[in-house]
Amino acid sequence: MHDYDVEGLLSQGLCTRCLGRVYALLGHGLTNVERGKALLILHAFERGLCGERVDPSALHRDSCDICGGAFTRFSMYAEMVEEKLRDYEYETFLVGSRFPEEALQREREIQEAHGGHGESVKREFNREFGKHLEAHLGKRADMKRPHVTITVDTRYDIVRVAVAPVFVYGRYRKLVRGISQTRWPCPGCEGGKYGGSVEEYIGEVMKEVFRSDDYRLHGMGREDVDARMLGNGRPFVMELISPRRRTVDLSELEREINRRCAGRVDVTGLRYSNRGEVQRVKESRHRKGYEVGVEVDASDEEIRSALKSIEGKVIYQRTPLRVSHRRPDRVRERKVYEARLVKREGPLAVIHVVGDAGLYIKELMHGDGGRTNPSLAGLLGKDVKVKYLDVIWIYDQEE
Ligand SMILES: [Zn+2]
Repeated sequence: MHDYDVEGLLSQGLCTRCLGRVYALLGHGLTNVERGKALLILHAFERGLCGERVDPSALHRDSCDICGGAFTRFSMYAEMVEEKLRDYEYETFLVGSRFPEEALQREREIQEAHGGHGESVKREFNREFGKHLEAHLGKRADMKRPHVTITVDTRYDIVRVAVAPVFVYGRYRKLVRGISQTRWPCPGCEGGKYGGSVEEYIGEVMKEVFRSDDYRLHGMGREDVDARMLGNGRPFVMELISPRRRTVDLSELEREINRRCAGRVDVTGLRYSNRGEVQRVKESRHRKGYEVGVEVDASDEEIRSALKSIEGKVIYQRTPLRVSHRRPDRVRERKVYEARLVKREGPLAVIHVVGDAGLYIKELMHGDGGRTNPSLAGLLGKDVKVKYLDVIWIYDQEE
């Protein structure tokens, strides 16, 4: 017979379940309550009790120092969860729990003193309440990517829910200048003079459709406020925060965005995405194609020949003066793959450039007082004024 110190354990004031959990890792196929009962019965027999009533269920009590009777309150917790999630669409959930730190500490000490075969009360609670919730809600427990995370604070009988965001991937085009990509951090400050943001144009429609609390746009790089984003559009992932709906007809959503933002912003290729893709989108660097309109007192031939000489070249760019107040001064090396004069429109020379991500195009044209080398202005030995700049292609699919 093993030397289970049931006598000593009983004096700790544990309920049958917490008693059984001390030996949770022994005897597969038993619940902790069954283990507890088995121990009590074994104990009664060992003491040779005769004619005495053995009632292990008498030890189920709210006063247990470890669980505090939390396992007897599943129905109440389940109703609280159901109420909190009433408005939310979800299929999967994950349960977490809080117990008093002293109780957890005490449980560790007791289990350690009795062979270290135990399991923590939190672990059992999360598992058992998870099963209870599956039955109660008709939803599925999911450890990896739950739609909602439920935390039961058994100390105060409070339930908290955190709804996972929905991510939607797409490409946006910005058809007008003067719109920033994302909202400005403080309303009324620097951004006040601009007409909204791509994030808001797309996000407000999505927020309405997904009935989310908020939204956040993660773009694959960004264009200047005064540059349009044309061509195949810029990849982005929109994060919908605490959405009440998760399944939405994305092609219908796309049409709705394009209808409501017509002439300013449009989107294509909306599909569901995930947090991992946010990281990939934010970190990826691809070549980009630009159209830049400049004013310079030079002939077509001079411009063509200057542009020819920077094709295939690495450009050295000290941090431009216009951004030097918010970025450290260093030299950036980026390659130009193509640079050609497309047309002349009166005083304007229209130039197309394909370059590495992060190439400063305006500076490549006007030279930034010699801080960018080589540059069109430097090669011509003339002043170059940039009149407009648009992104016309992002080469994320071709590479
Ligand atoms: Zn207990």
